[in-house]
Amino acid sequence: MVSSTMGEKEMTKIVIVGPDEKEWDNENQYKGAIKTIRKLLLKKDNYTQNIKDEIILVTGSCPYGGIDKLAEYEARKLKMKEPELHPPEVNKWNDSGRKGTSSYKKGYRTRNMDMAYSGDIGFCIVPYKSSKRCKHHNCYGHPSNGGCFTIKEMEKLKKETHLIIIW
Ligand SMILES: [Zn+2]
Repeated sequence: MVSSTMGEKEMTKIVIVGPDEKEWDNENQYKGAIKTIRKLLLKKDNYTQNIKDEIILVTGSCPYGGIDKLAEYEARKLKMKEPELHPPEVNKWNDSGRKGTSSYKKGYRTRNMDMAYSGDIGFCIVPYKSSKRCKHHNCYGHPSNGGCFTIKEMEKLKKETHLIIIW
């Protein structure tokens, strides 16, 4: 596992991402998502418990809430290291303006790529929804979202990723 050194301790950057608020309309799934985030941050799940290092949360600060904001909130509540946030600079998928100029602003795609490069291990948390199709995983059962794009990019970079489906 790739770890970044910050001060004296080895850090593991865990990316926690997923759909925004509107996909969490089922209260039980919403509660399940919060429980899952806490387990990941406290290393009480099957995926992060073997991480010896300290954890830094990396997430996207989505303006529409959902997993990004829940993870950020939980990390702060648990008094973890300051989360590494990647809010989009412009509210669209592609960047706006030309790179290298003052008008350049990062869209969702680039900010997702930044998280994929920065993180060591990635988790996308999604609600089970039978009729929804994810274009990134190319299957039915959960809604398409930028979090799935992010962990797919991490896969390409040979990093460990997990899609966690909340029933
Ligand atoms: Zn997906």
